[in-house]
Amino acid sequence: MIDGNMLLTEYGRGRKIRARGIDTFDDLVEFADGIGRKIARMLNIEDFAGAAPAEIEAALLPVMRKAYGDVSGVALGIQTANLRKLGLGLSAIGPEFNADAIRELAEELAGREFTAEFLENLITKQIIKGVDDTVRVNAEANSEMGLKTHIIRTYSDVGLMQGTKYAQDCEWCLSRCGEWDDVREAISAGAFERHPGCLCRIEYAVGRTHTVSTNRSNWRRM
Ligand SMILES: [Zn+2]
Repeated sequence: MIDGNMLLTEYGRGRKIRARGIDTFDDLVEFADGIGRKIARMLNIEDFAGAAPAEIEAALLPVMRKAYGDVSGVALGIQTANLRKLGLGLSAIGPEFNADAIRELAEELAGREFTAEFLENLITKQIIKGVDDTVRVNAEANSEMGLKTHIIRTYSDVGLMQGTKYAQDCEWCLSRCGEWDDVREAISAGAFERHPGCLCRIEYAVGRTHTVSTNRSNWRRM
């Protein structure tokens, strides 16, 4: 069986990939992908054989929580820098790690056969959430403050395209790419949804806007 504490130690020991020079959400997706793949490579798929969902969950939770925290921490730094440029004295918000997602991941892995690539893509998807969640919660908060928000999802399924399974463009992702000024519209358009192995870029820009408020609950754009 997989040893969760050993996994966490190994992750910490080997974590030489520093986030130095990463100052855009775009670059961070690739960084997060690298971390996810690194964790997946520390696992042996044979160790999953016969393991109950709860065992897998317990083993993966510490390292996944840590890696999510690392990635969302870098994302928080990017958002902090972006807000600082606005000079409004606003603080960035860190997202909350969702442990349920790891339980679901464990349930998906328990009692079935899968490839190392399948495992890698599932793990990576959860780590990239550290970027996407940061973008989403900050865009929501900034939008509520009356700031100008802009979300762009750019197609980039290179991770999958390199494999042999998908020889053509991913229509699922293409239908979720675009640009939005309203984060709620981006969410309902599926801009933040990913399939395992998806490497689409989700970028976020925040800016000042000419908003006035007649009363606090009624911001409008001029
Ligand atoms: Zn895709």
